[in-house]
Amino acid sequence: MLTDYHLHLQPDGPEARAADTERWDAVGGPRSLAWIARYVEAARARAVGEIAITEHVHRFREVRDWHPNAWWRGEATEDLTAHCRALGDAREAGLPVLIGIEMDWIPGREDDIRGLLASQPFDIVLGSVHWLGDLAVDHPDYPCWDSLGADATWGRYLDELAAAAASGLFDVLAHPDLPKVFGTPMPPGLTARRDEVVAAIAESGVAIECSSAGLRKPCRALYPDPEWLLAFRRAGVPVTLASDAHRPEDVARDYATAVAALRGAGYETITRFEAREPTQVAIRWA
Ligand SMILES: [Zn+2]
Ligand SMILES: [Zn+2]
Repeated sequence: MLTDYHLHLQPDGPEARAADTERWDAVGGPRSLAWIARYVEAARARAVGEIAITEHVHRFREVRDWHPNAWWRGEATEDLTAHCRALGDAREAGLPVLIGIEMDWIPGREDDIRGLLASQPFDIVLGSVHWLGDLAVDHPDYPCWDSLGADATWGRYLDELAAAAASGLFDVLAHPDLPKVFGTPMPPGLTARRDEVVAAIAESGVAIECSSAGLRKPCRALYPDPEWLLAFRRAGVPVTLASDAHRPEDVARDYATAVAALRGAGYETITRFEAREPTQVAIRWA
């Protein structure tokens, strides 16, 4: 079986959302059964049998005050309970949809994160390091690169990735080598530190995702790179498959590349989740 465990029902940011509004308005809105069904249809067309909708936590009013960045606060407009109910209704209607969330790792907010995760019937929780303080790893308008540079960005990112794993809050660490997004690779001097972080992730029991999203970004590469994927597999870290699509046509996109990378690293199974309980299933085109 194949899955796509990292999906968003809308693009990021008001301009991109405005450009897509007509598409979902025509079928009843971005949380409508018809719009979610388009993601399922796109998945099935690419031999993917189960999807998880993992909206960014910053889209929800409940977390508006969790982060100092103005963009974050501007994005926090939706109702988390209504959103999760719509996903639950989609599953009740027979669609193979998991209730997920892409939760930011925000040091110092562990109790808030734990409380929010307990407030909804999540099947899967992604943990993402998008921010180093109020500087963004992957948002071009608030880049950490200008003030930190490559060594500090990658070094701090690795520290936060290890802390996110050790927190025990997450089921899967999303896009594990995200700082390469704009094309700046990890400095070779950090390889030993990366290996320590891989060991810490293995120790924590959290999974990592193999995501085709990077192929659509300036770095033009899977998250993570094959060498990282091999290190994760050798350390015994379980894996999920993901596209990080923000529109139906990107669901399970470039999966031939992602599946080949998983097999190349020696993975024979991917992780499924239900009510945050993992099981392993063989990697197999349906
Ligand atoms: Zn992300
Ligand atoms: Zn995402």
